Amino acid sequence: MAAKILSGRQIADAIKAEIAGEVRELRTAKNIIPALTAVRVGDDAASAVYVANKVSTCEELGIISEHRHLPTQTSELQLLDIVNELNRAPDIDGILVQLPLPKHIDEARILDAIDPNKDVDGFHPINVGRLSQGRQSLVPCTPAGVIQILKRSGVEIAGKNAAVIGRSNIVGKPMAALLLQENATVTICHSRTHELSSITSKADIIVAAIGRPGFVTADHIREGAVVIDVGINSVSDPTRLSEFFEGDELEKRLTAIEKRGATLVGDVCHKDAMNKAGVFTPVPGGVGLLTIAMLMRNTVDAAKARRDI
Ligand code: NDP
Repeated sequence: MAAKILSGRQIADAIKAEIAGEVRELRTAKNIIPALTAVRVGDDAASAVYVANKVSTCEELGIISEHRHLPTQTSELQLLDIVNELNRAPDIDGILVQLPLPKHIDEARILDAIDPNKDVDGFHPINVGRLSQGRQSLVPCTPAGVIQILKRSGVEIAGKNAAVIGRSNIVGKPMAALLLQENATVTICHSRTHELSSITSKADIIVAAIGRPGFVTADHIREGAVVIDVGINSVSDPTRLSEFFEGDELEKRLTAIEKRGATLVGDVCHKDAMNKAGVFTPVPGGVGLLTIAMLMRNTVDAAKARRDI
């Protein structure tokens, strides 16, 4: 039987509707309007799209947003000054410094300078520490979104074997911490893991965050497992598509490459997951849509926490 597709759009829309309601309530009952500032340095094309989407989602939900676009040659000190100014600004609840930063800027130094109470990306070491201790914190948006997909789709996490493939600070590690917090038994896999498929094929839940199109294949997946695909890879070579897709989906993707020059492929082989998994998040239309919704969640949570609400 084909895997059931978990729609990221439906879940993201539900979360956004809840947040819009909270924002309205904060404004009318307490005269508070949550505010987010996104700082972008340089002209990375993907970053420009991500920040534009974040800003427009703020507008959609009634959150104040500001986009500060700085030139590539901005120095580390200049960027630190801006972060410090935003830390001090009483009306700013969330600060987001869009990654990647230009090579001459030390990312860790910038992220460490953000006030942890305004760190809506959840990357500050204080928030990472709080998360690892299972305390209230601002949690990285993508793994937080994965937990929402699982919970809101009725997937049981407690007591299940979960394999997270990838150990980045942005996805893999916080994902593992969150699954542990939900009482899963978690194995973290990475590029040095031996016999990856023998581990993942025992997992009830697989989260793939690797950055390689279609890397997770039938061998890695237990029959009926829950497979969450975090990967976003742009594939422009039509001859590769039959590795990942079959039937109507293959036709759709071939048309996409013809029209737009590329199609987005996850880290999981779509056709293998459809044939073997129990449930599966598609790319696009899965986890990616939750990331921005969870950024909005963090902004409103930060606005409330800063005022002890
Ligand atoms: P990173 O490149 O930072 O991390 C990739 C991880 O995959 C590393 O831990 C690496 O291991 C591991 N890995 C690489 N090759 C293998 C292998 N052969 N076997 C097992 N593990 C391997 O990527 P990110 O975590 O930032 O992103 C992962 C994917 O998620 C990307 O496709 C990215 O585009 C996507 N993404 C999607 C988001 C969304 O909103 N949906 C948000 C963020 C990312 P090692 O540590 O040993 O090198």
